[in-house]
Amino acid sequence: MSSSRVLVLNSGSSSVKYQLLDMRDGSRLAVGLVERIGEETSRLKHTPLATGESREWTGAMADHEAALKAVSEELTRDGLGLDSPELAAIGHRVVHGGKLFTEPTVIDDAVLAEIERLIPVAPLHNPANLTGIRTAQALRPDLPQVAVFDTAFHTTMPESAARYAIDVKTADEHRIRRYGFHGTSHAYVSRATAELLGKDPSDVNVIVLHLGNGASASAVEGGRCVDTSMGLTPLEGLVMGTRSGDMDPAVIFHLMRVGGMSTDEIDTLLNKKSGLIGLCGDNDMREIRRRIDEGDEQAQLAFDIYIHRLKKYIGAYYAVLGRVDAVAFTAGVGENASPVREAAVAGLEALGLAVDSELNAVRSDEPRLISPESARVAVAVVPTDEELEIATQTYALVNGSRNLT
Ligand code: ADP
Repeated sequence: MSSSRVLVLNSGSSSVKYQLLDMRDGSRLAVGLVERIGEETSRLKHTPLATGESREWTGAMADHEAALKAVSEELTRDGLGLDSPELAAIGHRVVHGGKLFTEPTVIDDAVLAEIERLIPVAPLHNPANLTGIRTAQALRPDLPQVAVFDTAFHTTMPESAARYAIDVKTADEHRIRRYGFHGTSHAYVSRATAELLGKDPSDVNVIVLHLGNGASASAVEGGRCVDTSMGLTPLEGLVMGTRSGDMDPAVIFHLMRVGGMSTDEIDTLLNKKSGLIGLCGDNDMREIRRRIDEGDEQAQLAFDIYIHRLKKYIGAYYAVLGRVDAVAFTAGVGENASPVREAAVAGLEALGLAVDSELNAVRSDEPRLISPESARVAVAVVPTDEELEIATQTYALVNGSRNLT
């Protein structure tokens, strides 16, 4: 029997998201989510795509092993068990791959050790990713397990973009540099944008704006990332749902010296209580737009700060690339919030950027252009699909080919 299925696992500290895909056509066989692992009220939601009927289960799941076992049982009920010879590999999202991992990589002990070594620069994410990998290995020790790194796509950034202007020795000692994240999405969306334009990725320069709850921009030159807005951690760059993005690092010293705050308190402030939620109390763009429509000035200011930063990055990456063929909006906000897209390119006609309001208002799950036909630069909405990208890269690696067959 041919093995054409790939299970994609995205393991967080208390959650596991999963999708089972058939790589003959990239279709989904099952999708699901386990939340609140380690609590009394863990919740599993599983949907087999053959029927589309979700099953939900709530109860205590002590750890990731219990969670994956429960997922495995659900898949078995649908005839899609993890013991099936049709399963070719398991692809794991791994957040931080440092400088070393530039490609998806088959996981062995040395790879596990390196992911572990990177924990100081990804203290929240890499431990959870490792737990997911070890649990999956225990479940199917015979199966190739592949790590697909969020940082990999950005490893092509030149040193001029990847280094901070701080003392080189100190930076190297602590591995401080700009790594970037959301790389799987930036890779997928930049390639899909080239496809939408009917061009080869190597001929196209794209600014990708991944605007979800976390948000990042990237400058992609001929298919290679040359700059991205997130840095050592996902805190740098754009205004996000709960993260501040760029600010003067001296704010931190000030909060310590004058505000008497601890390192952990400042970490929480900047990562969880800043960005849109810090500015107006909401981090969901739908709610912010609703409040703006009701004349709420605080929501309007939060929106304006969000757009101002976004516009600055579009301008910066225009300058980095020199020539821009397309600007692509993706993720929850980028795909759905037409006012964000319109405001982000408003006034940039001199750069060849414009949005056609009718096209911008269309709702669709398909990649599409929203710029007027005459525009010099294409503006596009390109839905991201990180799971498909992880599955494609995983399957290509274990199958020795990059294409879906
Ligand atoms: P994550 O970073 O958690 O993967 P997503 O890419 O799913 O996030 O984006 C989630 C965000 O997308 C929400 O917080 C919300 O702000 C925004 N969003 C989702 N749907 C809509 C919509 N219809 N209109 C405006 N914003 C939306």
